[in-house]
Amino acid sequence: MYYAYFMNKPCIICVAITGSVARKEDNPAVPTTIQEQIESVHESFEAGATIAHCHVRNQDQTPTSDPERFALLQQGIKKHCPGMIIQLSTGGRSGAGRERGGMLSLRPDMASLSVGSNNFPTRVYENSPDLVDWLAEEMLKYDVKPEIEAFDLSHIVQATKMADDGRLKKPLYVQFVMGVKNAMPADKPIFDFYIETLKRLSADSEWCGAGVGPHQQAVNEWSIAAGGHTRTGLEDNIRLDKDTLAPSNAALVKRAVDLCEKYSRPVASWQQAREILNLQ
Ligand SMILES: [Zn+2]
Repeated sequence: MYYAYFMNKPCIICVAITGSVARKEDNPAVPTTIQEQIESVHESFEAGATIAHCHVRNQDQTPTSDPERFALLQQGIKKHCPGMIIQLSTGGRSGAGRERGGMLSLRPDMASLSVGSNNFPTRVYENSPDLVDWLAEEMLKYDVKPEIEAFDLSHIVQATKMADDGRLKKPLYVQFVMGVKNAMPADKPIFDFYIETLKRLSADSEWCGAGVGPHQQAVNEWSIAAGGHTRTGLEDNIRLDKDTLAPSNAALVKRAVDLCEKYSRPVASWQQAREILNLQ
């Protein structure tokens, strides 16, 4: 969809509620049980988020890709937040191979997809060409829209190549992830070049910006000001500022909503978000 004047274009807010790293010891507001996750998504939905980016945890808070847990979470969100877009993560367990896509047969609206490897703070985030192609095939098979996680410029180029040769369905939805230690920093000229490159290689694509840790708010603001969509939540950042822990996912969503107001961007309703992303 093409908007001539993006200041009137609705902004989709994604809330990444849990992730695979932050624990209750880091911030007690991180939802780790299915019940806590459903409640946190519900509050975030009421605050303005329309995509729930979800990971699941074991009882001891360690990350898992257990399809049964994902199914319970999906059911709960559908029941309590009708219309909200459910996005399941295939990225949380680097090294686990095809287990990472075991939940795609649940046919969530969306799933995250990394199309290349890079370094993370303490390890390699490994996405081999074989695994990437297999995950992309499963997403085509189950009609799951991928959100491409771009941790590097090469990931943007690779995603457009995969869309051109039919391995991914167009139009693309690409998320620029910035500020992960040892990967791409939150750098405004690079961010601008990401947008320019994506639009040059894949004109009908939509994009979203996510900043990690102390960069969350800045990348939210850059994205909203530039006509994109944005992601927030405790997965990426557990603080409101350097001295204050975020009290909830909804509090971080509220911060993104306030930024939309500042730039006269309406916050997308779930119906608008589904239209922008070509979802039923
Ligand atoms: Zn995630």
